[in-house]
Amino acid sequence: MAKPYKKHNSFSAVGGSDLASVKLSVKKKIQNLAQGFGLINQTAYSDILEKAIVELERASNQNDFQSDIFNSFDLFELDRLPKDLWARYLIYRYKYVVFPKTRQLDAFPPCVQIEPTSICNLRCKFCYQVDDKLSNKANGHMGQMTLDLFKSVVDQLEGNVDAVTLASRGEPTLAKSFPDMMNYLKGKFVGLKINTNATRLKEPIIESILDAEPAVLVFSMDSANEAEYESMRVNAKFTHVVENIKRVVDIKQTNFTNSRTILRVSGVNYEGNDLGYSSLENCFGGSLDQIALVEMVPWIDPYNSELSGVQEPCSDLWRRMFIWWDGSVGVCDVDYLQSIKIGNVRNTGKTVSQLWLSEEYTNLRASHIAAERAGVCASCQVC
Ligand code: SF4
Ligand code: SF4
Repeated sequence: MAKPYKKHNSFSAVGGSDLASVKLSVKKKIQNLAQGFGLINQTAYSDILEKAIVELERASNQNDFQSDIFNSFDLFELDRLPKDLWARYLIYRYKYVVFPKTRQLDAFPPCVQIEPTSICNLRCKFCYQVDDKLSNKANGHMGQMTLDLFKSVVDQLEGNVDAVTLASRGEPTLAKSFPDMMNYLKGKFVGLKINTNATRLKEPIIESILDAEPAVLVFSMDSANEAEYESMRVNAKFTHVVENIKRVVDIKQTNFTNSRTILRVSGVNYEGNDLGYSSLENCFGGSLDQIALVEMVPWIDPYNSELSGVQEPCSDLWRRMFIWWDGSVGVCDVDYLQSIKIGNVRNTGKTVSQLWLSEEYTNLRASHIAAERAGVCASCQVC
């Protein structure tokens, strides 16, 4: 049987800013949290909020922060968040982690990934973009989301979902409307995250991102060694990408001095590459907030792989929903050719919420619970 890939626990190593000082800061802030919110009895999620606060308080009181719900990254995000937004953050985080375990469903998914474009300028060795069936334009999977569709999705999510990530199968900054999309997101989601390969970070794009103040801006970079980086991130130029990330750091320090956006370099652990924390830290003069190495999702050609033998239900079915550039709903990006059909928010008249609770999704979840994974899920190691 293939080794199950635990989706929630995919960081193999992290580094960056001083966790001890952030922990202390969060601990101080949390002391009067319950009273400070005044929200415990006012929100539909009061029970969740209460459990989340208890857990955060318990974990903060330990020497080494250990929690089944929160991780060290959450502490950094909380520490930068105004206190009046903590309740939203704690509720979203709780739903994101706990709902897939308890198989609980809300009207909306805990997290939505929006794909501004499926096009990418790189062909990373470990990415489905190397599969011609996806990236060859003749096959119909390549495209850009219109600004109108983007706005209609965001309108549905605002107030209902707090974890929104801009990324999926392509490089988001390649979308023609990317700056307008960023502008439309401003101030709407507590857990907004942008993933980028950092090849196109010029001033207007950087300004648009920082102005929207995402919680986290992730630069995908897997090695501080030029040759190794370029052998993995095919078509990318190491020096160019380093220059771009430094430009983000400079602009943030100059024009967005109070920004809460966390700058994170995140690499994929692929055949033993050496991310090189200290080299990366030297490279960016200690100005990055976080450096992380993520276990590679085994996603190369899942359509022609052997059965994985994994029987545990896939947590993504209770955690995330993907809305791709044409409005179609993807259940994950392992199924990058969308063999699993759920529906489309653009041309079926169905809402995000209706699709999340649809018969198609329900049947898929039921097959996982019954340990009867089929199709691409049967070959997939994610759970
Ligand atoms: S930059 Fe991201 S989307 Fe593009 S090929 Fe690399 S991993 Fe895939
Ligand atoms: S292919 Fe199936 S099992 Fe794999 S991540 Fe997607 S939904 Fe989960």
